[in-house]
Amino acid sequence: MTAKARVIRGRILSFTDYPAAGGSSAHCVIDDGAVVVAGGLIEAVGEARDILARAPRGAVVDDHAGCIVTAGFIDAHVHYPQTQVIGSYGAQLLDWLHNYTFVEEQKFADPAHCARIAEFFLDELTRCGATTAMVYCTVHPQSVDAFFAAAEKRGARMIAGKVMMDRNAPEALMDTSQRGYDESKALIERWSNRGRLGYAITPRFAVTSTQGQLEAAGALAREYPQCYVQTHADENKAEIARVATLFPEARSYIDVYARAGLTGPRSVFGHCIHLQDGEVAELAASRSVAAFCPTSNLFLGSGLVEQARLARGGVRIALATDVGGGTSYSMLRTAAEGYKVLQLNGQSWPALQAFYRMTLGNARALGLDDRIGSIEAGKEADLVVLDPRATPALAHRMETAGGDLEVELFALITMGDDRAVRQTYVAGAPRKG
Ligand SMILES: [Zn+2]
Repeated sequence: MTAKARVIRGRILSFTDYPAAGGSSAHCVIDDGAVVVAGGLIEAVGEARDILARAPRGAVVDDHAGCIVTAGFIDAHVHYPQTQVIGSYGAQLLDWLHNYTFVEEQKFADPAHCARIAEFFLDELTRCGATTAMVYCTVHPQSVDAFFAAAEKRGARMIAGKVMMDRNAPEALMDTSQRGYDESKALIERWSNRGRLGYAITPRFAVTSTQGQLEAAGALAREYPQCYVQTHADENKAEIARVATLFPEARSYIDVYARAGLTGPRSVFGHCIHLQDGEVAELAASRSVAAFCPTSNLFLGSGLVEQARLARGGVRIALATDVGGGTSYSMLRTAAEGYKVLQLNGQSWPALQAFYRMTLGNARALGLDDRIGSIEAGKEADLVVLDPRATPALAHRMETAGGDLEVELFALITMGDDRAVRQTYVAGAPRKG
């Protein structure tokens, strides 16, 4: 064990695979466990008595008795420029964009504003236990520079990209096919795979990009196969009708992206609510990822994702907040609303499956499961410590939980938020508060 080791003690929960209902082989629990972290990585995990017996004199021990230690949460779709329009009243998607988002995003021409909001956003993610996110910036390259600079300073694993828009948006928020390509390329050269940072090629959605711009984004994806692609699809019925008008030759909304070379295993499509059967098949065949954003889908009245249909169709699924259309930075709150969306579709969602999705499941969706998403030696030390008794109401509820892990996890989802996060470790360093 190296000199600067830290020992994090608590009830360890980690996944090795998707926890099918009723099964127990896909996750491991150590009731009195400990994780050794050093140099940003997990060095060891095991029973606390064994780990502590081997700990060198002077090692820092963080004792989180009674708390659950899991891999840090991963948010697969979120907009950092929307922190000051979250909770804006009374609009569905297209009006919400024009009335609130497109006004707000113009402020990101100012690098000082970008820097201030990036810091706030990353602080808030940390307070909520999220250690990795796939993030939309604005059309301004400086919004991407500010975000990555702030993430790099914290040592956080983050993915982000410059929004590309060349039509149906305010003049101040538009690039062109060529400029969007050139600016994205320069940002990729500057930031992609630098330390813990990854780049996502980010055409906002088909309504605000011409065919030429989508093709330019597809060209970037071919040139830089290490990059991700992120965009929106099939969120709202008026949006879908608009896309059909703008791209009359396409068979479907997803087909618009497929024709431009934007589907694939590193492509994450936000929402995917109103999918035709052919779109489900296209997403599955291309191994693209659908990002389920329940708080946003409810808040904007967009619709109910049919998770069981997507899963049956073989579509890879991620879970995401979609702040600021989404209403909470907390993946716990997001899972709670996800549960309710599934209930409205006559489905259920065991707590272990929801926790899998927030950790290893989302890491797999982003192709990062060799680095993050579970608590194993050699992985990066991004962890969250959850206190199932963090509030009076939670503590009261725990009186009848009998120490049952699944009861605790489901109560944390149903009633928890940033208050339930006792500590967040980013690359082994405590970061909350
Ligand atoms: Zn979004």
